[in-house]
Amino acid sequence: MKAADSRGQTPGTPPTARTAGTRILVLGGGYVGMYSALHLQRGLRRELGSGETEILVVTPDPYMTYQPFLPEAAAGSISPAHVVVPLRRVLGRCKILIGEATSVDHAKRTATVTTLATADEGTGAIELAYDELIIAPGSVSRTLPIPGLAEYAIGFKTVEEAIGLRNHVIEQMDIASSTRDPAIRDAALTFVFVGGGYAGVEALAELQDMARYTARYYHNIKPADLKWILVEASDRILPEVGEEMGKYAIRELRSRNIDVRLTTRLESCEGRIAVLSDGSRFPTRTVVWTAGVKPAPVLAATDLPRTDRGRIRCTAHLTVVGTEHVWAAGDAAAVPDITSDTPGAECAPNAQHAVRQAKVLAANVAASLHGRPLQEYAHAYVGSVASLGLHRGVAHVYGRKLKGYPAWLMHRVYHLSRMPTLNRKARVLAEWTLAGLFKREIVSLGSLEHPRAEFESAATGGPRHTTPPPGTPPPPDPPRSGPSDTPKPPPPDTPEPGPDDSRPTGG
Ligand SMILES: Cc1cc2nc3c(=O)[nH]c(=O)nc-3n(C[C@H](O)[C@H](O)[C@H](O)COP(=O)(O)OP(=O)(O)OC[C@H]3O[C@@H](n4cnc5c(N)ncnc54)[C@H](O)[C@@H]3O)c2cc1C
Repeated sequence: MKAADSRGQTPGTPPTARTAGTRILVLGGGYVGMYSALHLQRGLRRELGSGETEILVVTPDPYMTYQPFLPEAAAGSISPAHVVVPLRRVLGRCKILIGEATSVDHAKRTATVTTLATADEGTGAIELAYDELIIAPGSVSRTLPIPGLAEYAIGFKTVEEAIGLRNHVIEQMDIASSTRDPAIRDAALTFVFVGGGYAGVEALAELQDMARYTARYYHNIKPADLKWILVEASDRILPEVGEEMGKYAIRELRSRNIDVRLTTRLESCEGRIAVLSDGSRFPTRTVVWTAGVKPAPVLAATDLPRTDRGRIRCTAHLTVVGTEHVWAAGDAAAVPDITSDTPGAECAPNAQHAVRQAKVLAANVAASLHGRPLQEYAHAYVGSVASLGLHRGVAHVYGRKLKGYPAWLMHRVYHLSRMPTLNRKARVLAEWTLAGLFKREIVSLGSLEHPRAEFESAATGGPRHTTPPPGTPPPPDPPRSGPSDTPKPPPPDTPEPGPDDSRPTGG
């Protein structure tokens, strides 16, 4: 007879097999998905242990990404593996299913899910029944029908994009260094970022810092040869830190030769030429799109009420309006901001709310299962901090404004304290310490994205192509390994709880 693991499963049992009376289905393994499952596995310890209840988390990746560290990962200050948190380790009492929800039929209490195995099985998407549903698929980049955007631009929401962008920037320097054609060199050394929120500004500032440093190792590239352009449609950047600090950030970026263009839009990037609404044209091989987010597409395939902007309509209890047994929070949810005087105000899509909402949501799910009253979510935004590259930053928190080194230090200390798990905190701190003692990494490992190139070249006798010529459509994704059903021992890591309501978040 096979032994059952801590989740009541025998080896080989797929996570889709129902093993308990009450199933809590969590869609998404980001801030809200991970933290709500984490709080629930603590709050429902007895029920999970006795097999009365199970928590099943469905998410496309086996990790939660700490997105505020993506700019530092792109700059090479933090390893990619350390900006993500392994869900199987942290959520030891939950079942994890690597897959994607494609629709939800709440009337029937089912979600349709595709997994890595569904294509091989040939049986189509699977239907998962649930008793309680937590919807937390977050958001995706909000794009516009701009010619060339889908073909040439890259987003900045995932660790893959951050590392891909780092490799790409260094690769452009290698191209510029090796070409004799001034037009190719100019396009390779021109980097256009669209969107002046914290993702765009921090990504640009960190990458520019990294590229300027890297340039010292090229005999024919000077930092001044690199052209960095920030395109923002409104008349300010970093609205999260307020007007005064936003103006300071613009001055700071311009002092580093970054061309900040306000009230300007990207009109086209067809043929690898960025055309701006002010009439300027920049041949470039790099367009980074960080102009906002929109709710995850799966929300449109549910029978749940949504706002005009596509977020799930929620109550302050984080239940979905007009329904029972379904809960939502984070970027995907329109949660009323009951601390605001403005009628109809919603909580902004940011980590500050997501992590706090997850805590209240989990408490309310447990309360509802135990027949206790629910609590309302109330949190007034306390401000933000943003990094503008190494040793530079800007902050506006609890009415206090900081800039330069103190703001940068505050950014690091704050995010280190918020990073889930002691394990990840220690690794990030170790990396920062080592980076202070040794020189920065300056290599592009772009070939990691084409691991078969060397072998194919050996097998076919052809040249090794790691960089496709401009305009080549991207190759299909390499095959991914399937989810593991092998039971694991309980988690050695002790994740930290989400931030309490008195702490600011970074931005
Ligand atoms: C570069 C960057 C920097 C940021 N910095 C800050 C900051 O400093 N401060 C701050 O407050 N906020 C910051 N944010 C915003 C913050 O990260 C988000 O608001 C937060 O992640 C939202 O949490 P969430 O759980 O709603 O979504 P996410 O954390 O994005 O999680 C969504 C999860 O759902 C999964 N998913 C998507 N579709 C499906 C599906 N169909 N089925 C199953 N799973 C699905 C996704 O893969 C993901 O795992 C930053 C964002 C970025 C991109």
